[in-house]
Amino acid sequence: MLHRIDVVVPTPAHSSAAGPLSYSSEQALAAGTLVRVPLGKREVLGIVWPRSAEADESFAAKPVAAVLDGISPLSPKWQQLVSFAADYYQRSIGEVALAALPPQLRDLDATQWQRRMKRGNAAQDAGGIVNGPPLTPDQRDVLAQLEGQDRPFLLYGVTGSGKTEVYLRAVQRLLEADAQAQALVLVPEINLTPQLQERFAQRFGESAIASLHSGMTPPQRLRNWLAAHSGAARVVLGTRMAVFASMPALRLVVVDEEHDASYKQQEGARYSARDLAVLRGKFEGAQVILGSATPSLESWQAANKGRYQRLAMATRVGEARLPDVRVVDMNAQPKGAVLSPPLVDAIQQRVARGEQVLLFLNRRGYAPVLACTACEWKSDCPNCSAYRVFHKIDRTLRCHHCGFADRVPRACPVCGNVDIAPIGRGTEQLEEHVGELLAGVKRADGEAVRIARMDADSTRLKGALEAQLARMHAGDVDVLVGTQMVTKGHDFRRISLVAAINVDSALFSSDFRAPERLFALLMQAAGRAGRDAQAGHASEMWVQTWHPQHALFAALRRHDYPAFAERQLAEREQAGMPPFGFQALVRADARTQEAAQAWLHAAAQRAQAMPELGQVALYSPVPATVQRIANVERAQMLVESASRPALQRFLAAWHGELHGLREKGLIRWAIDVDPLAI
Ligand code: ADP
Ligand code: ZN
Ligand code: ZN
Repeated sequence: MLHRIDVVVPTPAHSSAAGPLSYSSEQALAAGTLVRVPLGKREVLGIVWPRSAEADESFAAKPVAAVLDGISPLSPKWQQLVSFAADYYQRSIGEVALAALPPQLRDLDATQWQRRMKRGNAAQDAGGIVNGPPLTPDQRDVLAQLEGQDRPFLLYGVTGSGKTEVYLRAVQRLLEADAQAQALVLVPEINLTPQLQERFAQRFGESAIASLHSGMTPPQRLRNWLAAHSGAARVVLGTRMAVFASMPALRLVVVDEEHDASYKQQEGARYSARDLAVLRGKFEGAQVILGSATPSLESWQAANKGRYQRLAMATRVGEARLPDVRVVDMNAQPKGAVLSPPLVDAIQQRVARGEQVLLFLNRRGYAPVLACTACEWKSDCPNCSAYRVFHKIDRTLRCHHCGFADRVPRACPVCGNVDIAPIGRGTEQLEEHVGELLAGVKRADGEAVRIARMDADSTRLKGALEAQLARMHAGDVDVLVGTQMVTKGHDFRRISLVAAINVDSALFSSDFRAPERLFALLMQAAGRAGRDAQAGHASEMWVQTWHPQHALFAALRRHDYPAFAERQLAEREQAGMPPFGFQALVRADARTQEAAQAWLHAAAQRAQAMPELGQVALYSPVPATVQRIANVERAQMLVESASRPALQRFLAAWHGELHGLREKGLIRWAIDVDPLAI
């Protein structure tokens, strides 16, 4: 007998065949089974999906081409997570489901698959668990509260309070209590995974841990995915994509640095891995711990409301103290000074004592723009509404949006003037400048000061990041210059001075989240200083600004995140902004700005007739912040509601309407639910 089955396949988000497709099969196949099915002229990977009433019965179903054997079906709870994410973020199930699988599952043909499965996925025993250090009173307290509660936890612990140890113990407790149980630990950045992986491997043994992130080769990803799926991996460590890892016995989900913007996917299905982690915990009956020294205002408010349970760790491990914050008024400094003289003195003293210094500037390259001194020429990108950044190392002008790069011209391309000059400053220039300022400075061992830089450019090559981190940890570097990459999560032991060089643009941004982001960034940066009480002198965090009176700095001086959060929340509530209101952004890309906006206008027009519009406000279409990228014009329209369900109902109904909308020159459109940057 032939069985009719529904299969989700990687359908493009807006195709009309967005739902599961019908196929026939000789054998009954459980939902979650991986299959290969014909689609058009191709054969693609698909997942058997529970039959729905709306399944398309109209055409003669083609037979399933093959069943991937040796691999158990994806669980109903995994399917539930994927369905939820697809609905909530207005994408097709096929797109979300297939993107959540390792690419090799898609790419290996039947023979290759069989060969791969023969190699096996040796499930190794977790082996002995190595005990950690005795807990601090805060840690003990928090771990006691973590027992027996089913609300998600918000672990608000200052930097260096030992949050990671709490995660380790929570995992340990779980693994010891249940021989099958699995834990998922999410971190925001790939570059934080090696350090964390090492700590987990030391504690639970190498073979108990599987990591999942985009920096791995396809075979590694498949291997680790299978280890998670088979239950062999007891702990899965990964970046946002790992929230979709198939884990049959998931009991604990940890989201470290939960405030971090990299948990939000910025293309395709624009999901928030943090928010999905909370949902997933609910579906699976797993405990959820969101941890941060600077929680997102969304999570902070959820804790205020009692939806999350707040746990606090207010002091650092051991005798370590949080750094003293010094705000430097740049108005009072010599004209043109990049680093204020007192900061230069402080850096010299630290270096001479054998301590490390971290300088951060959120701009890579040498200078954000080159300009002709005689005419109006600037180093615009021909493809984007943005300047190309000057990189002195290889004398290129590079667009950080579209990647377009070429060599710096000898003379101004407009007027021929040979005097073209950098404007502003990036990390490359700061590194050079610091080198000049500290030229005569000696380390404690009498050698010349060592300066290094860490940013997306310096870490591009494979292994470069690990090498740079190792040098830093070994004390081989005295002054590290970097972008925000250096401020996140790292447990540098010998940094006693951190300085933020230029943060003012974030004080006056039009983005209502800019203050939240800046405050978190500065607190996290401060968190890199003084982590080791044994390292001697009191540590310091310096901030150079032209606006020292800004309220944000007053809270920063006191390390008072709660005060900052409450004030921000009061402002947000007044304005009906998240987390008190809910937003979605419709983005349209087109050949011309007019076409992009025309499509959005037409979309708004369609909405006017819809009853679901009731509690929802539509704003006018506007150009995106970077209006043109790679010769594509971008526009967007904000949708807002005081009710999340009302917004969801509207989006679901409206989404259907938008498929039919045509506009000449339109390239693509997408809905971004809970957008982070507006
Ligand atoms: P956080 O994630 O809160 O910033 P970490 O978990 O990185 O802090 O801990 C800071 C430092 O304190 C780390 O070097 C860690 O090894 C150490 N540490 C954590 N808990 C303890 C403890 N109970 N006893 C001794 N050292 C600890
Ligand atoms: Zn010129
Ligand atoms: Zn460009």
